[in-house]
Amino acid sequence: MNEYVKLLKEKGLKITPQRLEIIRYLDLNRTHPDADTIYTELKKSNPSLSRTTVYNTLDILNQQGLIRELTISRSEMRYDFETRPHHHFLCGKCGEIMDIYVKCPYLDTKELGGNHIEEIHGYFKGTCKNCC
Ligand SMILES: [Zn+2]
Ligand SMILES: [Zn+2]
Repeated sequence: MNEYVKLLKEKGLKITPQRLEIIRYLDLNRTHPDADTIYTELKKSNPSLSRTTVYNTLDILNQQGLIRELTISRSEMRYDFETRPHHHFLCGKCGEIMDIYVKCPYLDTKELGGNHIEEIHGYFKGTCKNCC
């Protein structure tokens, strides 16, 4: 748990058991879960956990750049512990979201057509190798 305490401290965030649990869950489950899945899973071992706490915590962690919010799935926000630049593949059949590491020619671009670039994020959609 110490590395997660360190992450929160670095951002000047209060250390709470719920925040640590949620970060840990995202680190151990690299499936880009949605908030409801995180809530349901953590509720099993933390009966007092509330849905609001989970949503608020995810918001704070995302704002502080400790996790990443993905809107690749139309219906719900997904969350990612991996904050280094990478892209995502969504399978239209099983709904799985996978990390994609491809070199983007613009990755080191800071400016494009006069616009300032802060993030480059590719969404790939199709059928995954398990569903083909
Ligand atoms: Zn699939
Ligand atoms: Zn990812």
